[in-house]
Amino acid sequence: MPQALSTDVLIIGGGVAGLWLNARLRRLGFATLLVESASLGGGQSVKSQGIIHGGAKYALHGALTGSAEAIGDMPRRWREALAGGGDLDLSGVRLLSDAHYLWSPGTLAGNLTSFFASKAMRTRVDQVKGERLPPALQDPAFKGKVYRLNELVLDVPSLIARLAGLAGDSLLAGSHIEALRDGDELVGLRVDGRDIHARRIVLSAGAGNEALLAGLDLRQPAQQRRPLHMVLVKGAGLKPLYAHCLGGGPKPRITVTSHPAADGQWVWYLGGDIAEADGVARDEAAQIAAARKELAALLPWIDLSDARFATLRVDRAEPAQSGLVRPDNAFLAEQGRLLVGWPTKLALAPDFADRVLASLERAGIQPGERPPLPELPRPPLARPVWEELLP
Ligand code: FAD
Repeated sequence: MPQALSTDVLIIGGGVAGLWLNARLRRLGFATLLVESASLGGGQSVKSQGIIHGGAKYALHGALTGSAEAIGDMPRRWREALAGGGDLDLSGVRLLSDAHYLWSPGTLAGNLTSFFASKAMRTRVDQVKGERLPPALQDPAFKGKVYRLNELVLDVPSLIARLAGLAGDSLLAGSHIEALRDGDELVGLRVDGRDIHARRIVLSAGAGNEALLAGLDLRQPAQQRRPLHMVLVKGAGLKPLYAHCLGGGPKPRITVTSHPAADGQWVWYLGGDIAEADGVARDEAAQIAAARKELAALLPWIDLSDARFATLRVDRAEPAQSGLVRPDNAFLAEQGRLLVGWPTKLALAPDFADRVLASLERAGIQPGERPPLPELPRPPLARPVWEELLP
């Protein structure tokens, strides 16, 4: 039987939420263990577009939702961390773009008017022209308007690698998880037959939270999945573009991010409306055809003759909301020693950790003794999704 362990905080799930939390707790002196059943970042995190939103996208309705408020401080916090200060030292994490852009392809005056009318917008928005346009839009044929948002785009694989580095010896590969109880009280978890006692247990397993809760005989908090059908495009003719392209509706028509592949080519990753309901209903071939059509309509000067396409189906996992609306903040629920949550966005990982820290503070839990850990089986890092699908 493997050696029993005890720790201050036992974290289940090594996506951005668990890894950020783990690094923050360790920095504050807490003893932690993080259990990952597959690969670090391999759930939603490395499949995300890496945009550190400041809330601009959610202000497109004109009437501002809570999202823009809650998320408004995230670009500053991430910038500080990337510069080596702030909550964590994320120096070395690759910044793909210092800004994300809002791009209106035609005369969508109504849409933009309501956007700029939203007084509570904290994000600064400047129009850019000429050489300040994103490289993919610097073409004489380009007619739209482009605004620079105070948002950044990260290379998520390098973020996950950095957070895994900050985890030191606290990572444990493990998949079979059972409750460890003292009478009726949950006092820890048994991971692959190893007892781990903990003062707090945090479930941050993304879509895996639901099954973990069921295994602990719990039904709450309920989870929702929002399916997406993303498109990847790789080709020598692609240039970097990080932008929400506005359509007529409240959601971006497409959201494009660009990712450097190991062979030096760019991969465009397409989300936004194209990846939602209608896109989810399409099969892979129809989704690729729809993406080709969108790109030909919006960026006809981009040479896609040698481009290769792939699609990726992935669910966003979030706390259940009525009507599948977007949750506004990171979410955390408490039940005794058990904390369960979803950051709801990569950008909100710092907010998720804040909520756990606030809960520890309310319970008067201070960093305890940190007994040396034995050598533990370490989970691998996830491979970038564009290397998996378009090698
Ligand atoms: P995950 O990254 O899913 O990690 C959960 C981890 O738990 C996984 O590694 C999984 O293997 C592990 N796990 C599961 N079950 C168990 C178990 N039983 N035991 C142990 N481990 C387990 N957000 C943004 O802010 N900006 C964006 O641009 C953005 N783009 C997105 C694009 C897409 C296509 C998607 C799907 C999401 C996007 N998001 C974005 C949202 C963001 O990716 C997620 O909110 C965030 O990554 C969730 O992090 P997480 O750590 O909670 O979950």
